[in-house]
This record gives sequence, C-alpha cells and structure tokens, in this order.
Amino acid sequence: MVPEVAMSDDAPILNDDAFRAVSRHPARQSALTGCPWHDVNEMLQAAGLRPTRQRMALGWLLFGKGARHLTAEMLYEEATLAKVPVSLATVYNTLNQLTDAGLLRQVSVDGTKTYFDTNVSAHHHFYLENSHELVDIPDPHLVLQKMPEVPEGYEIARVDMVVRLRKRR
Ligand SMILES: [Zn+2]
Repeated sequence: MVPEVAMSDDAPILNDDAFRAVSRHPARQSALTGCPWHDVNEMLQAAGLRPTRQRMALGWLLFGKGARHLTAEMLYEEATLAKVPVSLATVYNTLNQLTDAGLLRQVSVDGTKTYFDTNVSAHHHFYLENSHELVDIPDPHLVLQKMPEVPEGYEIARVDMVVRLRKRR
C-alpha cells in the first residue's frame, strides 16, 4: 500500500507547494492536513529528522492508522507485507530515533518486550497477557494512593503503569 501512496503524488504535490508557500513566513507549524504521507513528512522535519524513504515508509505505517502500540518485530512484519524494503535492524534504529525525537514513547513489558506507542501523551496501559496486546487505559487521571518517597536530589519524571490482565478461567 505504501507504493500506491507514493505514486499518487500528482495531486498532493500542488497541495504541498501551496502549503509550503503559506507556511514559509511564520515559524514552522505542523498543521495536520489529513494526508498521512504529508503529515509524516511534516512530523519528521519538525523533529529534525531527514524524511528519508525508509523513515517515511515506516512513519506512514506507524502514524497512518491512529494510536498504536507496536514492537519492532510487529512493524517489521507490517513493512514486509507492505513491500517496504527494510531490515529489522533499520526498523529498530528508526524506532529509537523517533523515540529520541519525542514522536514515540517506549513502553516496556516484562523487560523482554518493548512496545512503541504513537500516543506520547501521559497515559497508562492494560497489558493483555493472553494476546500480548497493549491497550490504553482511557482514564489519564489514575491516582496512586501512596507514592514512594523520592531520594534526595530526585523528582518523579513520570509514572508508567502497566496493569496486567488475563482471561478469567
Ligand atoms: Zn498507549
């Protein structure tokens, strides 16, 4: 599906140029246009990442479908199915670059499984042990009854809560 989008560039190119002309003067703003390909390009550039072919294709797979939680292996599989020529190592590198740039958030489960979350806002997760799926907990205002005391000179940066669920027997 990715090549299809790449080939249907005819009409969007005009839009791109129009958009650039409009946005050249004010400070760069990342306006979402609803065109995933265009949005991924804007997103990468705003984060200071060169929109290479591979980053664009992986970004399109990641961000083109709303909020998602993917492991590197899952994204690699999707890329392979979409005929995007990338290695698993490139997928890992790209995911780490996007995370460093603040476009993705890492959520670790078990220490062996790392998910990359396209939703970088503060939220917690259910982990479905049976299907190894990560699901957002809709309420962002979960409160811990008693926070641990923080050592001298430190502050809490973030609390990541993973609530593990299993099917009832
Ligand atoms: Zn999430």
